[in-house]
Amino acid sequence: MDEKTECAKCTKVVCGSKESAQGPSNCPTKTKQDIIQQALTEYDKPEVREFARQASIQEFECYMNLPEGMTPRNPRVEEIAQFAKKMGYKKLGIASCIGLRNEAKILTQILENRGFDVVSICCKVGGIPKEQIGITENQKIKGPGSFESMCNPITQAEILNNEGVEFNILVGLCVGHDSLFFKYAQAPVTVLVAKDRVFGHNPVMGLYQAGAYYRKLMRKEPLDSQQANKNE
Ligand code: SF4
Repeated sequence: MDEKTECAKCTKVVCGSKESAQGPSNCPTKTKQDIIQQALTEYDKPEVREFARQASIQEFECYMNLPEGMTPRNPRVEEIAQFAKKMGYKKLGIASCIGLRNEAKILTQILENRGFDVVSICCKVGGIPKEQIGITENQKIKGPGSFESMCNPITQAEILNNEGVEFNILVGLCVGHDSLFFKYAQAPVTVLVAKDRVFGHNPVMGLYQAGAYYRKLMRKEPLDSQQANKNE
């Protein structure tokens, strides 16, 4: 068995250079050559190759070589519109959280202004009560006895599939609900907004603050303590 792959702990990070073979002993560039070569064959598929090529061009265009140095440009929302245009997409899907409906509306306007046909679908589509998936009264956000619609990412995906969208954009779906959307969507998916109820949908702030005001994120705790209410 190969050593565990742990790029996140690597101190060499030579993979972005010509010295990519000089990584640590557990470097996947050394230990996973079979998978690397196998995965490369996927890029031989014309549609995959073109998608990857345009994504790299998009990446390239996000920097400006100014006299004072390399400078980034293009907020992600602009990038998404530019990439969709590069790919020749006409019809885009937005899968959004009900709590970010205003953001979904603004995104729709931005994309329509650029000539895209935009279909949008809210997470609560169908108005199906949470009891459908086994949520108990004590697990309702508004408390026992209240009516709560379940988030319905599978239906969001199926409706956008049915509409024939060519590219999906996620706006604030919850952790796990987004996973189901990824699983069921037929067209490629990108994320504009990753939900973070504390940090204004800027989840990386939790990492930036893990050495400061949110040091509690670094606490050690056994895995099974997080699963305590799994079967409640
Ligand atoms: S691929 Fe190799 S060199 Fe790059 S981060 Fe991972 S272990 Fe380090």
